[in-house]
Amino acid sequence: MKKKSNTDEFREIEAELDAFIKAKVEEQTAKVIYQREFSTMEKHYSFVIWNVDKVSFTTRKYLRRPVINKRATAEHVRQLREYFNVLTTEGEIIFHASHNDKYKTSTGIWLSEIDNDHYAFDEESLSDAIAKHNKIYDEKYAPREGCIPCDYCKKQVPLDKVVKQKIWYRGRDSFGIARSLTRIGNFCSGECAMNEQCSCEG
Ligand SMILES: [Zn+2]
Repeated sequence: MKKKSNTDEFREIEAELDAFIKAKVEEQTAKVIYQREFSTMEKHYSFVIWNVDKVSFTTRKYLRRPVINKRATAEHVRQLREYFNVLTTEGEIIFHASHNDKYKTSTGIWLSEIDNDHYAFDEESLSDAIAKHNKIYDEKYAPREGCIPCDYCKKQVPLDKVVKQKIWYRGRDSFGIARSLTRIGNFCSGECAMNEQCSCEG
């Protein structure tokens, strides 16, 4: 029997590779992905809905798929096999998704990121994480009568418990000259006041 040419072998691996990727991609049927709105602790969370435009199977590290013009060398065959190997062991599904807003914001979400805490395939799965966050918000951060937010951690502090502290920071005075300035900050604790002072010193 005649030995297969490198080019034939290359084309065979290519076909096998394409079938492998196609099968992986076809397992994914999600049309939308729900994201827990990413924000600070200072507001209620809700959902962001991403529309899935395309699904790919690839690796997180940059890897160029070997291609040939007409003829393959043994080296081409070796490189394609190696590429296939890496894809088999490290490949992952990525969802290319976008918003229908005027900015057409788009993103890539890896399958492993869909953890029912930050991302989920359905609204239901995210609602626990959102409810948990919102409960903490209501208890600690929601504006309350007789309280003000701590300048550093943003938690509500009863007015009679506020720690007032002078914070030194670098800024410009009304003449535009760089100076060391001060302001009085409101904090829940000495620790937050210290953290705020540290963040001002950069
Ligand atoms: Zn605080």
